[in-house]
Amino acid sequence: MSEVALAFRELYGYEPDGVWAAPGRVNLIGEYTDFNEGFVMPLALPHTAVAAVALRSDGVLRLHSADIEGPVVELRTDELEPRSGAGWAAYPAGVVWALREAGHDVKGADVHLTSTVPTGAGLSSSAALEVVTALALRDLLELPLSMAELASLAQRAENAFVGVPCGIMDQTASACCAEGHVLHLDARDLTRRQIPFDLPAHGLRLLVVDTRVQHALGDGAYAERRAGCERGARELGVRTLRELSSARLPDALRELSSPTVRGYVRHVVSDNERVARVAGLLAAGDVRGVGPVLTEGHASLRDDLRVSCAELDLVVGTAVGAGALGARMTGGGFGGSAIVLVETAGVQRVSAALNSAFASASLTPPRLFEATPSRGAHQLL
Ligand code: ADP
Ligand code: MG
Repeated sequence: MSEVALAFRELYGYEPDGVWAAPGRVNLIGEYTDFNEGFVMPLALPHTAVAAVALRSDGVLRLHSADIEGPVVELRTDELEPRSGAGWAAYPAGVVWALREAGHDVKGADVHLTSTVPTGAGLSSSAALEVVTALALRDLLELPLSMAELASLAQRAENAFVGVPCGIMDQTASACCAEGHVLHLDARDLTRRQIPFDLPAHGLRLLVVDTRVQHALGDGAYAERRAGCERGARELGVRTLRELSSARLPDALRELSSPTVRGYVRHVVSDNERVARVAGLLAAGDVRGVGPVLTEGHASLRDDLRVSCAELDLVVGTAVGAGALGARMTGGGFGGSAIVLVETAGVQRVSAALNSAFASASLTPPRLFEATPSRGAHQLL
């Protein structure tokens, strides 16, 4: 039996019905574009949230995380209230709520989970938690829901129940990514395309650099960027910024009164175009060509959207200075993680440069690991 199943038995006194896993993700390119109905290109990490789950029929939902100090959280499924401040338990409870709201008869469950996805590092530990819960309940209740539909329900849990206005990328990545691939997602119609991403075959590696900082500024900034993008779309008479082509961008920028909104619009339109460029480079087998596009994307996030921070800029500057092909922040910014595309032979040099730059700036050493494109959510046992 797996460790998680054993811990379930220890906790609840009986065997779970099964064990499921759902990964965190990094996003290769296309940041702050999903809620503008644009394009993103994430890959799933080998790090996963793992849940042992058993159904109950008495209306009780019990939730426990091995990674959080504290007792089992006990709730009633017919009393779940959005934004009721359930702390970490709001993520899995929100999924139960969203399933019930969608008309699925989830009576109750016992859940024990643990995760290797670093939390609050921009690697979507929250989506991993939601998706693993959604998948377990779908399988156990034999609900007629696709992986993409599970992702949408998980997003609804985070938006409406937890109260975080995230787009659809994180949950879709956790649910739908395929091993050895990046996922090209059109956030307007949710069309998905798996693109082979075998970096070692090209003598390359993708490093994740977790800065281990999280700036308080990030809390309201996501919603502010979102509102700014919506304002830009309104002023330009388009439904979403997705409708705006690169060709129309120069004229559109002249129409916008606020320099702040102008920057947001320029970022979103140019990052959508960068996703297309990266897709083209990968299709052509020019994986090295992706590097400069990443660095260009970082400059856009830093200067136009203004969601980077000193530590993320330090990672990008240091990595590129040490010979990396390209680098950029990934996820929401204001701390969290960056990605670095680097020759296999250059991994040591870049890692050493990053460690020494962080030491010189008196920062906690960054957490470095390789992003191997891993499979999406699945049943383990
Ligand atoms: P990210 O998704 O980028 O890691 P979020 O702030 O969206 O950051 O989600 C982090 C939150 O998710 C944590 O504060 C916690 O509430 C919850 N969470 C993530 N992993 C776990 C875990 N293993 N156990 C309990 N809660 C978790
Ligand atoms: Mg999250």
